[in-house]
Amino acid sequence: MCGNTAEHVDHIKPHRGDQALFWDWRNLQALCAHCHNSVKQRQERANVRT
Ligand SMILES: [Zn+2]
Repeated sequence: MCGNTAEHVDHIKPHRGDQALFWDWRNLQALCAHCHNSVKQRQERANVRT
């Protein structure tokens, strides 16, 4: 974490529509906008399929 105010809730594991995983607090982390965006971008790059 970079120390900014956390204003986003992020899923550690992508829930992919799984309600149990979506609401599981152990799968949630609070991130600031900056960290949230960088995590998202990394995941989206990792998930790219040709
Ligand atoms: Zn941050």
